[in-house]
This record gives sequence, structure tokens and C-alpha cells, in this order.
Amino acid sequence: MIHEILPVGMLACNCSIFGDETSREAIVIDPGDDIGDIQEVLTRHGLRVKAIVITHAHIDHIGGAQKLKAATGAPVYMNSNDQDLYDHIDVQAAWLGMPTPERVGIDAPARDGDRLTLGPAEFQVLHTPGHTQGSICLWIPGENKLVAGDTLFRESIGRTDLPGGDGRQILRSIRGKLFALPEEAEVVPGHGPLTSIGREKEFNPFLRGL
Ligand SMILES: [Zn+2]
Repeated sequence: MIHEILPVGMLACNCSIFGDETSREAIVIDPGDDIGDIQEVLTRHGLRVKAIVITHAHIDHIGGAQKLKAATGAPVYMNSNDQDLYDHIDVQAAWLGMPTPERVGIDAPARDGDRLTLGPAEFQVLHTPGHTQGSICLWIPGENKLVAGDTLFRESIGRTDLPGGDGRQILRSIRGKLFALPEEAEVVPGHGPLTSIGREKEFNPFLRGL
């Protein structure tokens, strides 16, 4: 499996590009910005995008989705609990002093338990509310990898002081859904360096005694 992680935009959101070597199909997660760079990676590997997945409706994760959809024709998946947040993306843009990105139509919900396939690999949707109400993670058992959005970071967790955030809920999501995964599972957070479930169980100061 091809997996490239590209920090995009001014908040350096980790955009993940997964590609299947046989079918040359790709899944792009969180195309926040810098769509030209993402397309360059796709072209370099000869990949065709079959799905665009948004882990949550913060502008740094969803901002480039319309451009990528227009360029590839791929459907966009997002959990519907973040629709409200997305409807007010102009407010997020104003906070950051950014122009409001072009609106993207959401084609499919990403509900807890939903599965997307890429070649032989399965991408399972875990609904992990707390950072936002519609936050999801993608668990790829065949790769032993978790794409965590802004729910879990290396030695930190997602902020919960923004609209739709809930500090107790994010801890419940991490304990119930993420800490149930294998310790050696690699975690690709929405920002910053990679980690593993076991490492965060041991060293994450926000999760002591969880
Ligand atoms: Zn976020």
C-alpha cells in the first residue's frame, strides 16, 4: 500500500494519500489545502482518487475538498454530525483571517462502522466525537494504522474549547474506540508526528489513568 503524508496549509494539517498498487485507486483523507501538491503525489504514483474522506469539518482539514473533488470527480465522505459546523465555515475562515473556501457537497455520510475498501484493504470508520461532534478516525486493520484526525496527537489530544467540542466526550471516544486497538497500531494524527496506541497509553499526559 502506498501511503504518503503531506502537511498542507498554514496549520500543517496531515493529509494522507493512500494508494493501492494494483488497482491504482486512491483514498485521500483531509485535503485541507495545497491541492496542487496532493495532485502531484497522485500523478507521481499514477493514482485515481476513488474517495475523499474528511475527519472533521475544521477548515484546515476540509478547505481544499471542493478543489480536489472538482479535479478528480471523487465523492466526499463526512460524518453528518459536523454538517452544522461546516455550514458556518465562513466563521472559521474569519477567525483565521482566511478567505472562505469554496463549498463542497457531501456525497456520503461517514457513519460509525461504515467501511471503505481500497484494493484488499478495508478502511473502517470510527465515530469519535469530542473535538467536534462529527469527528471520525479511520482504522485500517490490514495496515495496522489509524488515521486519527484531531482526536489523538503524539502526547496530546484535540482541543475541545471550540464550538462542538466536549472534553469528557473526547476522553470517552479515546478510551472506548482508540485504546481498544492493538498497542502497536501506528497512529497518524491530524497534525504533527506519528505515534502508536501503546506509546500514547504510556506517555500521553492527557490520558493518564484513562
Ligand atoms: Zn480540528
